[in-house]
Amino acid sequence: MKFDIPAGARKILQTLAEAGFEAYLVGGCVRDLLRGVEPHDWDICTSARPEETERYFAGQRIIETGLKHGTVTVLVDGEPYEITTYRTEGPYSDRRRPDYVRFVPDLTEDLARRDFTMNAIAMDLGGNLRDPFGGADDIKAGLIRCVGEPDQRFQEDGLRVMRALRFASVFGYGIEECTVQAIHDNRTMLDRVAAERISVELCKLLIGKNAGDVLRQYPDVFCQFWPQLGPLVTLEQHNPWHCWGGWEHTVHAVEAVPADVTLRLAMLLHDIGKPACKSTDEQGIDHFYGHPAVSAKLADEMLRALKFDNKTRERVVLLVERHDAQLPPRSQVIRRWLNRMGPEAFFQLLEVKRADSMGQAYEKVKNRLVELEEIRAKAEQILAERQCLTLKDLAVDGRDVIAAGIEPGPEVGQVLNGLLERVLSEDIPNERKILLKLVNYTVTDQ
Ligand code: ATP
Ligand code: MG
Repeated sequence: MKFDIPAGARKILQTLAEAGFEAYLVGGCVRDLLRGVEPHDWDICTSARPEETERYFAGQRIIETGLKHGTVTVLVDGEPYEITTYRTEGPYSDRRRPDYVRFVPDLTEDLARRDFTMNAIAMDLGGNLRDPFGGADDIKAGLIRCVGEPDQRFQEDGLRVMRALRFASVFGYGIEECTVQAIHDNRTMLDRVAAERISVELCKLLIGKNAGDVLRQYPDVFCQFWPQLGPLVTLEQHNPWHCWGGWEHTVHAVEAVPADVTLRLAMLLHDIGKPACKSTDEQGIDHFYGHPAVSAKLADEMLRALKFDNKTRERVVLLVERHDAQLPPRSQVIRRWLNRMGPEAFFQLLEVKRADSMGQAYEKVKNRLVELEEIRAKAEQILAERQCLTLKDLAVDGRDVIAAGIEPGPEVGQVLNGLLERVLSEDIPNERKILLKLVNYTVTDQ
């Protein structure tokens, strides 16, 4: 094996075995070991009842939050390990967790409740597998396959539809044929899944290496929780800038942007308002006037529906709203944008604009890509030189303005903002002597 089992997990497996119970590593960690990827957590399943597990780890710190579902979390060397009694699950009527769990004596029954064969493998300390559903072979083949009857498994918990697509995107795996069919057939089960659970899977999916192909192959699934995507999926655009329809352009743009949740969401939603803004002129060319504002409004609504956090939502909406804004490569303009958006959002916007161009007819946008690089270089230089971008950077402040004779109050801010505007546009340099002189003129003018 490529990676060592951590000492904490070893100790837990040994302690349970010595007490006469069965205990195995199970789920994601076994799957990742077989894939040759380092596991990020180590889950353990055991024939011991939760209260028995607790008894054998009485000396350790124990977290009891999962107790109702048979999980005891034990902290060894500061690392938490989840130890779960063999169990089956009842239905998910609260859309989040199974209504009840039933402890079972047999490992195979526990493995049978798990979603995909690759996630239904147990391993002991010697590396011996318990793999009743052929998960190891599916991992070798790079295949996602339901444990048992796919329709039934998706009907028990609709989130599995999104988990299948998430694993397909992140691992670059294919999905077995019957499982594919059942995903399409059971996508409406997502209506019964809590929004937060869907968005967790969606975020992981979007930053996966195969996000583009999954979006291409399963638009019906995405439309299930975001019906606003429907008109974009079928949108045609007859326009010299575009060589693709709305969905293929969107997917290209998602693929072209770095694998970051905010950026990928911005690309997925940047043209969502286009269908509502479409008009066709006498030459048969389509136009989408005003679509960024409509896209931003829809994006806001969609991200709220999936209960995204405010910070992510607001940033995605800002990027969507500005994605098509004119941005000439002039320092005066760049400084103003840096001032309004802040550097972080501004550089994200450059990524968004680049990815948007990459999804358009290449011949038409070559120059645009060069221009965006020029803008980036200029922005980096402006920041490296610590040029004046905000009121804080201005060589005079409120006290100077008041000392020159302006009454404390809103007028002080107006004077300072007026100076900042002129400095940003290179009308005047950010030099104290010159700025003070201008403040004094303002006072004598009055
Ligand atoms: P990750 O690498 O993202 O942690 P994971 O497969 O470990 O992936 P977890 O949510 O940590 O995912 O779940 C641990 C195990 O529990 C899974 O490997 C699987 O066996 C089982 N499991 C998790 N969610 C479900 C579900 N919705 N339906 C059936 N089994 C599930
Ligand atoms: Mg896990």
